[in-house]
Amino acid sequence: MGGTFDPPHQGHLLAASEVLHHLDLERVMFVPAGDPWQKHTVAPAEDRFLMTVLATESHARFEVSRVEIDRSGPTYTADTMETLHDFYGGEVELTFIAGADTVIGMGTWEKLDRLSQLAEVAAVSRARIDLADIDPGPGWPKIHVVEMPEVAISSTEIRERVRKSLPIAYLVPPAVAAYIAEHGLYQGERNSDG
Ligand code: ATP
Ligand code: MG
Repeated sequence: MGGTFDPPHQGHLLAASEVLHHLDLERVMFVPAGDPWQKHTVAPAEDRFLMTVLATESHARFEVSRVEIDRSGPTYTADTMETLHDFYGGEVELTFIAGADTVIGMGTWEKLDRLSQLAEVAAVSRARIDLADIDPGPGWPKIHVVEMPEVAISSTEIRERVRKSLPIAYLVPPAVAAYIAEHGLYQGERNSDG
């Protein structure tokens, strides 16, 4: 499951849990983006990585990878899948987990053909996004739609809440809320780039 995780929240965790169950996966690897080419991040990669570790530590089948953080330059999902594929010697079946809003934009992705050869996609439902807008074109990966209970929050909204001194309890795991407070994240500049 790729993302900026800026910060990780309950929507990410529920999505991962639902897909793990419905597609009978062995585990979910969260892959925080290092240098996203399509969006700007607010918190440094190391903070986003550590928060993702804190968010996922209580689930035996969740893990976190540094593969994108440790690579310089722009990160394409196809490259990450290639790295994982090579690392496991081609012995794994890879499923890329993404929210419907992410999957809708997949037509613009670099190396989509290669991604299709390496992985299938689990598209989880997301509040305010119409699953019917997912319109796979030629060369797209196989898409599995997974409906999940709506968690109508985003990292953007959580950053806004922190900036306005509103509570984020129950929207992010307690350890993530504590990390944000301790490190003073998201208190300054306004940032909501979706
Ligand atoms: P931002 O507002 O900064 O974009 P975000 O909440 O969308 O943050 P991302 O890190 O961009 O979080 O998301 C990682 C993946 O998780 C994306 O594929 C996104 O669609 C999915 N996702 C995020 N929040 C939810 C949610 N509440 N329900 C379902 N999927 C979600
Ligand atoms: Mg997003």
